[in-house]
Amino acid sequence: MNNIKEIKEFAYQNQVPIIQEEGLMFLKQKFKEYGCQSFLEIGTAIAHTAIEIASMDETIKVVTIERDPVMIHEAKKNIREMGLEDQITLIEGDALEVMIKGTFDCIFIDAAKAQYTRFFNKYSPLLNEHGIIITDNMNFHGLVEHPERTQNRNTKRLVRKIKEYHDFLESLEDFHVEFYDIGDGIALARRK
Ligand code: SAH
Ligand code: MG
Repeated sequence: MNNIKEIKEFAYQNQVPIIQEEGLMFLKQKFKEYGCQSFLEIGTAIAHTAIEIASMDETIKVVTIERDPVMIHEAKKNIREMGLEDQITLIEGDALEVMIKGTFDCIFIDAAKAQYTRFFNKYSPLLNEHGIIITDNMNFHGLVEHPERTQNRNTKRLVRKIKEYHDFLESLEDFHVEFYDIGDGIALARRK
């Protein structure tokens, strides 16, 4: 697909959980506000957000990690067809296992919800001094506030994990953290 609208359309039709439009606007706004030039994304899916960020300016560099072969296939195709291969590096593998070189102005955590704390601990050392770490799905469809709305055991477990991550972020002494009721809930962390 060679335009972003088609990529979004594909995501909605195939239930690929890309960031909500409102959340994306917020992410792009903060990316600009903090003068970010580099972006590390945990959880590429079909490269929707990687493409959105890379398209903001041709000097921006994106590194994005994905483990699902079906998603990787689609992401590669989209990056190639959008002509963004020079700006976006797709790392294939589990984000908890791969080794990433470099440092980043903005890190976006948007992969397996149960691993959020681990992703933060592994990748926050790669954050540049004035950088930001943004996490998606902090509200998890409103279930974090209303866990009684699901009976599904796996969903309940994920909700509990996100709550734990919320508390973990609040407990960090070297980071200033803000939570926003935007999209599916977003957390923004920056070093004190
Ligand atoms: N950030 C994307 C959407 C990501 S959806 C966007 O906004 O466009 C979450 C993706 O994370 C899924 O494709 C899933 O396969 C991937 N994922 C989950 N756990 C992962 C892990 N440990 N390592 C790498 N990718 C992971
Ligand atoms: Mg998400």
